[in-house]
Amino acid sequence: MNWSFIFILMSAFTSIGQQSDEKVVLVIHGGAGTILKKNMSPEKEEAYRTKLEEALLAGFEKWKKGETSVEIVRASIHVMEDSPLFNAGRGAVYTNDETQEMDASIMRGSDKMAGAIAGVQTIKNPIDGAIAVMDKSEHVMLAGEGAEEFAVKNGVEIVDTSYFKSDVRLKQLQRVKEKEKAILDHDGDQGSVDSSEDEFNIDYIEDKKFGTVGAVALDQSGIISAGTSTGGMTNKRYNRIGDSPVIGAGTYADDLVGVSCTGHGEFFIRNVVAYDVSALMHYMQLSLNDATQEVIRKQTEIGGKGGLIALDKDGNVSLPFNTEGMYRAYITESGKIYIAIYGS
Ligand code: ASP
Repeated sequence: MNWSFIFILMSAFTSIGQQSDEKVVLVIHGGAGTILKKNMSPEKEEAYRTKLEEALLAGFEKWKKGETSVEIVRASIHVMEDSPLFNAGRGAVYTNDETQEMDASIMRGSDKMAGAIAGVQTIKNPIDGAIAVMDKSEHVMLAGEGAEEFAVKNGVEIVDTSYFKSDVRLKQLQRVKEKEKAILDHDGDQGSVDSSEDEFNIDYIEDKKFGTVGAVALDQSGIISAGTSTGGMTNKRYNRIGDSPVIGAGTYADDLVGVSCTGHGEFFIRNVVAYDVSALMHYMQLSLNDATQEVIRKQTEIGGKGGLIALDKDGNVSLPFNTEGMYRAYITESGKIYIAIYGS
């Protein structure tokens, strides 16, 4: 793209992203976890960077046309949901029962409207289900069969569960199960896990594949929306629901800031992470960076691993995490693209 430039950010552990001198209009993540350069082949890294760029550009096309932040978020998340690289939509991980159950949510900051779906197995793009709940129902969250039935009635694309099937993800489930059994057998000795064997760099026990996707956009009318979509965590109990569809935990947006999280969902629910960023900014008048740093500090304190992306009404962006890496990227109003994967 002749109008875009790519900057690879060198970032510190628990890093805060830029510091851009231009307004950021869209920020995305593709999950946080034990993502180490030593386990990543150049081809694999390139595949992730290319897909992150594609997701940004899909959203930016909408931004340039003056479309809403909800549509910008939808376009960006679609690209990542359709890619098996990420744990959302087509790349969703398996539950303990070898099913794939997906969660997603959306929130628009201007009127605080929100929609979410949880535990769905046939909605091709789970973010579409969440947006339909926001736009076409009087509810905020629908789960399971009721969510799928609602999606069908509202014209959301449905697919057979075989669309999501993946041998790679199944292998990951089996390895997690084996490893967990080994841990039990060894009475707490976790030993080391060779994630280099895994196609997507999974650290099997420590983070069970955090690969959720998320996007926060600021449209030309100044409205912020945030969305998150996930397959959850490998080997989760069936019907387990994480933070991603929980408004205030995995996703939040208001007139000041939008947030999308990724990481060990139970901890993000307990600390109400996404809303906490907004609350610190509203009630304590913290800056975006100070608020997100404080939130990640509190997560670390209770043992919650993961990260978040946040974008405020002035186009400032923050991307902190306490894992080894987080797939993250953003685009400015003139089309400059920033992509980063690792911590330092
Ligand atoms: N937060 C997601 C969950 O707990 C997982 C992730 O971010 O990868 O379901």
